Amino acid sequence: MIIFGTGKRLIRAGKPKFDCTYCGSEQSVGLHFYVRYFHIFWIPMFSYRTESLSHCTHCRQTLSRKEMPLSLAQSIPGEKPSIPWKYFSGLLLGVILIVFISIAIVNEDRQTANYLQRPQVGDVYGIKQSNGFYTLYLLSQFKGDSLGFRVNDYEVPGASKLSVIRRHHAKDYGKSIVFLSKTDLNELMKNNHIINIRRD
Ligand SMILES: [Zn+2]
Repeated sequence: MIIFGTGKRLIRAGKPKFDCTYCGSEQSVGLHFYVRYFHIFWIPMFSYRTESLSHCTHCRQTLSRKEMPLSLAQSIPGEKPSIPWKYFSGLLLGVILIVFISIAIVNEDRQTANYLQRPQVGDVYGIKQSNGFYTLYLLSQFKGDSLGFRVNDYEVPGASKLSVIRRHHAKDYGKSIVFLSKTDLNELMKNNHIINIRRD
C-alpha cells in the first residue's frame, strides 16, 4: 500500500516588525510562511504552493494574505523565503533514479558487446525470436566457428519478462543444439534480436 497525501509546514516565522492596524501596536506583526507539498510515505515529493499569514504578537490577530491590509500584503514578496530543497525530494529522487537506470543500461550494453566478442560456455542470451516472443539461449558448446545453444522451453511476450524465465525456468533448456555462426550472431545483434547476455 502506498501512503500519500499533502502536508503543510512552516518554513519561516518572520520577526515582528510591522505595525498592527487592528490594535495599534508598533512592530508587533510578523509574516509567517508555510509550504504545502505532496508526499509519498511522508517524504515530500514536490511543493505546489506557499501560503503566508500575518500574526500580531500583541492582539494575536492572525490574517491570511487575502485578509491583510494592502501595505502588509505588499511586503510579502520581499519577505518570502525560497522553498527548501527537501520539499522537492521526489523530483530529485526521480532524476537520480533516471541517472542510475541510464548507467545500468549503458553498462549492460557494453557488457553484452564484450560477452559477444569473447563467448564462454554457460553464457545466457536473451533472444527475440522471429515469432516476436522472447526466450533464453544457453551457450553449451563451440564447434568450429559456430556456437551451439540450447533453447529454453519457455517464451515470454516481452523483453522485460525474460527475468521471469531466468527466475523460474533457469534449468529448463531443451536437449537439441542450435548452431549459430559468429556472422549469424553479429546479424542478430545488429537487428536488436540479442537483448542481453548474462554471465554468472
Ligand atoms: Zn495587534
